[in-house]
Amino acid sequence: PTANIGVVGLAVMGSNLARNLASREGNTVAVYNRSRSKTDELVAEHPEAGFVPAFSYEEFAAALQKPRTALIMVKAGAPTDAVIESLMEVFEPGDIIIDGGNSLFTDTIRREKAVRERGFNFVGMGVSGGEEGALHGPSLMPGGPDEAWVTLAPILRSIAAVAPDGEPCVTHVGHDGAGHFVKMVHNGIEYADMQLIAEAYDLIRRGTGKTPAEIADIFAEWNTGELESYLIEITAEVLRQVDAETGKPLVDVILDSAGAKGTGAWTVQTALDLGVPVSGIAEATFARSLSSHREQRAVSGGLPGPAEDAFTVDDANAFVEQVRLALYASKIVAYSQGFDEIRAGAAQYGWTIDLGAISKIWRAGCIIRAQFLNRIADAYAAEPNLEVLLTAPYFVDALGRAQGAWRHIVGTAATAGIPAPAFSSSLAYYDGLRAKRLPAALIQAQRDFFGAHTYQRIDKPGTFHTLWSGDRTEVEAEDTH
Ligand code: NDP
Repeated sequence: PTANIGVVGLAVMGSNLARNLASREGNTVAVYNRSRSKTDELVAEHPEAGFVPAFSYEEFAAALQKPRTALIMVKAGAPTDAVIESLMEVFEPGDIIIDGGNSLFTDTIRREKAVRERGFNFVGMGVSGGEEGALHGPSLMPGGPDEAWVTLAPILRSIAAVAPDGEPCVTHVGHDGAGHFVKMVHNGIEYADMQLIAEAYDLIRRGTGKTPAEIADIFAEWNTGELESYLIEITAEVLRQVDAETGKPLVDVILDSAGAKGTGAWTVQTALDLGVPVSGIAEATFARSLSSHREQRAVSGGLPGPAEDAFTVDDANAFVEQVRLALYASKIVAYSQGFDEIRAGAAQYGWTIDLGAISKIWRAGCIIRAQFLNRIADAYAAEPNLEVLLTAPYFVDALGRAQGAWRHIVGTAATAGIPAPAFSSSLAYYDGLRAKRLPAALIQAQRDFFGAHTYQRIDKPGTFHTLWSGDRTEVEAEDTH
């Protein structure tokens, strides 16, 4: 056998990762795909890669040095299970099977257990960066056993993206499903980031009447400051793009109905199960759903709203700066919520996850790569057990600078009838955290009224119930647990 690693599944992601692997010193890559044509094409188009093609699982196993290492890049779900099963039939105990697809972390936990029981090592690995990342350097989020990480670390470090300080964007995230969990939250944060940028664009456009090309210049300018990030950068490029057919800005001829492949929804569903308020990510996910309900929007256009002239901006430059600050503050909230979910997931599933290390491996290769992630890394370096990310001194300072503008923009959007769900829910979350006292006390009383759910008091220990349907005296409740 000549290959030290193999890739199964040669669609865009698998073939680009295979090419990336083959381009690194010392690697020989075996490749296999269910339908032969993809293998033939890849090998023919990239003779420089020196691929070892296999046309059956037996040939694939025979091509790999022991312990064998196989990276699966096929459709998530049943296809992944089918490929794992086929590999176990031809592999031997001690071999390593990596799933680099977008698998749900609970599937990864299940698979890791089943594969481990049969003596193999299983690594669920989040891969971010799309096809370009796969080819030139993705951000990699491997989970799985420590033993597999020892073998994989040099290979994964060699193909990962490199952060500005020279660090490769890969770390052993944690055991079993930890890698796919963190990748899921990465995607949730990506949803929030994109929605916030879209809201900023919409407010500027409707508030100042600037053209998409003019707004592109604003984003390009923002990309030189604290908002510097891949998503801001590509937004400028998108807004500058002109449709060849109509001569209009491309953004004006694209149907305003956003798609989703489900990872945002997973992040929100998981957060609901864990009881983590990722409201910014949730609003971003729901905003995509709302946009895609074209039938509902079609019958709702006549709903009453503010007068057309309710939105006038006197000083366009000042307004743009306020939007920038609102965007930055909301972005801090989105990341704080995302890291909160990772913390809660780690506690629930027994993973040890270094949050600072996660922020560092997102600095290059992935879609949410941003300068800002260095600030998060600094925050966790100073205080590894930070309870709430946005309470780190740097963020407190940034929020202090931004909060006035943030409130103004959310208020302006509401008055003008412009939806800004992610801006406003982020602000509500911020004010909820800040509040000395929340109306949750009233909710507890209501729950006690209709369901005898009991409450606790601020002035003495114990659990209490008011006899609402009796004489309304308070009694100490039996501990129902
Ligand atoms: P696809 O998700 O489109 O999957 C196509 C590949 O899966 C083909 O190689 C196909 O083989 C194979 N496949 C499907 N069903 C089976 C099966 N039952 N048995 C064996 N092989 C099967 O490919 P992508 O390259 O887009 O993505 C691969 C994985 O990476 C997915 O899990 C995706 O979610 C994830 N991912 C994708 C990113 C992206 O930007 N596209 C980014 C990060 C992760 P055949 O040619 O025979 O049909």
